[in-house]
Amino acid sequence: MSLGNKKKPKQPSTKSAKGSCGGSYGGENKPIDKKINRLRELAAIGRNKRTSEQNQELCKLLGNTGPSTVFEKRDKKNRERLTKELQKLVKNDKLVAKASEDWSTMSDPDKKKVMKKVLAAQRRAYKPKMAAPKIETYNEGVKDGFITNGTYNHGTNTIRVNMNSQAKAGTSFEKTVMLLCHEQAHKYQHLIVDRMKSGKIGPSSLYYRQAQIWEANTRAYQSTSKGDSFDCYHDQSLERHSHTVEDAVAAAI
Ligand SMILES: [Zn+2]
Repeated sequence: MSLGNKKKPKQPSTKSAKGSCGGSYGGENKPIDKKINRLRELAAIGRNKRTSEQNQELCKLLGNTGPSTVFEKRDKKNRERLTKELQKLVKNDKLVAKASEDWSTMSDPDKKKVMKKVLAAQRRAYKPKMAAPKIETYNEGVKDGFITNGTYNHGTNTIRVNMNSQAKAGTSFEKTVMLLCHEQAHKYQHLIVDRMKSGKIGPSSLYYRQAQIWEANTRAYQSTSKGDSFDCYHDQSLERHSHTVEDAVAAAI
């Protein structure tokens, strides 16, 4: 499973793949419980067996479920710490400062060092804490009308970054930082879901509802490479969250 970042060339946006999870669910007392349970039912039918009406229902549900209000309050603090950490990094780290001035002429090994520093800055900002992912670079052009900017694969704990000249990391330092923070936000989503599955996040936790939403979204993940529509991919909860992070980064650097 991997969560990615795709765009139509010249029209940036983001994409991903999927994962599988388990989790316990409470009753159906609230509208949000009904939505989450319905998402799980539709996911269980399977992509190839769902009717077009069921696919439309699923797409709509993924687009309007969450974020959890109590979680969002905490996550806003994550983003505020992130923007401060990135601003400090650009100001105080010579190599990162150089990257921000002249990304295009920087050597590939130096670019990779900078990318690691950016990811570390995001991890300093985020609570709960994430372990470091591996990072890999590759070069791949437009495929089927889309370019994949990068991916996060939870199984291998790896962020892959496309250095192609049409992809974000081939374009500018700012876009590279946005991409990296988007992908590592996918890692953060998995961390929250994993903590719910292991019992560290229980029903009384402020993270619990969001963990349930992301767990259900992971089951029903929409991916253009699997034939789902670009809008369903782009508007699902997991991607909306990663885009919120990207937007905060874009405003900060
Ligand atoms: Zn994504």
